[in-house]
Amino acid sequence: MDVGKYVQPFRVTGGDLRLADYDPGDTGGLALEKKEARELLASGVELLAELQAKLYADDRWSLLVVFQAMDAAGKDSAIKHVMSGVNPQGCEVHPFKVPTAHEIDHDFLWRASVQLPARGHIGIFNRSYYEEVLVVRVHPEILDRQKLPSGLVGSRIFKERLEDIRSYERYLGRNGTAIIKFFLNVSKDEQKRRFLERIDNPEKHWKFALGDIEERTYWNAYMAAYEDAIRETGTTEAPWYVVPADKKWFTRLVVAGAIIERLAQLGLEYPRNSEATPQQMAAARKALLSER
Ligand code: ATP
Ligand code: MG
Repeated sequence: MDVGKYVQPFRVTGGDLRLADYDPGDTGGLALEKKEARELLASGVELLAELQAKLYADDRWSLLVVFQAMDAAGKDSAIKHVMSGVNPQGCEVHPFKVPTAHEIDHDFLWRASVQLPARGHIGIFNRSYYEEVLVVRVHPEILDRQKLPSGLVGSRIFKERLEDIRSYERYLGRNGTAIIKFFLNVSKDEQKRRFLERIDNPEKHWKFALGDIEERTYWNAYMAAYEDAIRETGTTEAPWYVVPADKKWFTRLVVAGAIIERLAQLGLEYPRNSEATPQQMAAARKALLSER
């Protein structure tokens, strides 16, 4: 698949950004039938699996993939579909929920640090340390529960956190963790439609939380927080992608394409066998074939 064409328009690596310029219903000019979209994604998934195998064998780089979004934007299903071909042995998914008492007893990046992917692995964060400049910014009363020394909580706290996140990601990059971040950009109307579907379909009741309806009333505050976070932390090394999320098939294509592109940039190759010489390999082959 021609990855770059579908991915590039949504990449944010700095500069001014206005979320209002991004259409959640965008499909990159593609009008695919379900079957075609499935086939295109399948070829992406296959490519991704090949790249992951090399990432694992190479064992130097790791890839951190961050997903952030409003409720019902499709984080879970994007993760499920895009990662469907990868070897589970080299991939971990971590959801980030309301911090536990133990987590709150540490700095805000601590709980993420302990879940970072090892070399050769892909780590997926379903929500992340970005919640500290999103939900906490929208509901600053959460800060009162974070046990921070009062002198450290000032009007600049979210600017400082964004600065710290940017430095943290630069640090990780310099240590061999490639980072890619997705904001699944669903529209308020589409969220409503998906909530209604969850209410109307008993098999989807488990996904419905009363609190989600309440959170929706803070939509504009969330968009402002996302806009600032993406603007301040989108870099060439750790780009954000503002992925249209009203059409799930297109969301998945962009996500798959962006991950493929990032992995392809790492110049991964299967390592040579440094232990055995070609002569030793030939001898081993001969020994195997002459076994009885
Ligand atoms: P889904 O609803 O699709 O199952 P989810 O990611 O929304 O997935 P939930 O258990 O509903 O999972 O929500 C997790 C909640 O935890 C979110 O509302 C999120 O804002 C909140 N959260 C995550 N990190 C933090 C944090 N650092 N401080 C406060 N709240 C947080
Ligand atoms: Mg939720």
